[in-house]
Amino acid sequence: MGASESLHSRPLIGRLAPSPTGVLHLGNARSFLLAWLSIRSRGGQLGLRIEDIDGPRVRSGAIESTIEDLQWLGLDWDGEVQIQSDQRTRHQQVLDTLTAAGLAYPCVCTRSEVEEAATAPHESIGVDAPVYPGSCRGRWSSEQQATEETGRDCAIRLAVSEDAIAFEDRFAGRCEGRIHGDFVIRKRDGTPAYQLAVVVDDLDSGVTEVLRADDLLPSTPRQMLIYRHLGAESPDYIHVPLVVGPDGRRLAKRHGDTSLAHYRREGVSPEAIIGALAHGSGWVEEGSRCRPEDLLARFDLSSLPTEPMVWSDDLV
Ligand code: GLU
Repeated sequence: MGASESLHSRPLIGRLAPSPTGVLHLGNARSFLLAWLSIRSRGGQLGLRIEDIDGPRVRSGAIESTIEDLQWLGLDWDGEVQIQSDQRTRHQQVLDTLTAAGLAYPCVCTRSEVEEAATAPHESIGVDAPVYPGSCRGRWSSEQQATEETGRDCAIRLAVSEDAIAFEDRFAGRCEGRIHGDFVIRKRDGTPAYQLAVVVDDLDSGVTEVLRADDLLPSTPRQMLIYRHLGAESPDYIHVPLVVGPDGRRLAKRHGDTSLAHYRREGVSPEAIIGALAHGSGWVEEGSRCRPEDLLARFDLSSLPTEPMVWSDDLV
């Protein structure tokens, strides 16, 4: 067991958790390749969960095309594909448990009320919300009472007792992240928030390793706090750098079409994509063609560059 691994042994279980809000692009492909390699190179189990709870942003046909893209790349998973929205009852049950324990509470504040009342300046660490001053904490005995008295729908917020959580990320190292006040774990429209759903689903699937892109690093302390409130141990976290365009900015539409579907249409092989991603990770020569399984013996998190990977179409 390496020094960076947990001292007590837990089964090694990871997951791929795409959101079907668009087509898979190279940035997603890299994170999924690394998540797959990290688990498969050590003989662990890997699940596939489609995170489709963000209703309005889910694009029709995107679940099917996501699965197709992953298969085209040569990534596989164990067991049935899980669909997050199938777990709505379970999410609600956890929300009820947290609320009954006084660890979460109904909140009728609108976004503009929160912005007005927020006293602390919003520090920009990637969490897109003002710090909530706790106006509804302890104000209502139930969601029903809050709705009856105000005529408004309620969100549910987690009652946050600490300001920041420090943790050891297996790639990013020691991290300390702010929680930014009582945060929403169920939206006003009744949908569970990403922070809650991801924790409940990972917990229910026994996930012990989460490898994902480091744009989600600021969410990690919030998720760890939910684990704590549920009396559960968090998974090991591995946050890897994003893929950026030649201008150093996060890969996006401005860099042209970097969707896997686009390269596939252009006749680029999955081996060329995997080869380019492996080259960007420092494991193979430029221009190599390979399948994910060819990289199993070379996968080494400690040799992965800490800088974002710069993509250019010349790589394929
Ligand atoms: N579904 C999330 C996304 O695609 C990833 C969630 C996670 O890995 O925790 O951004």
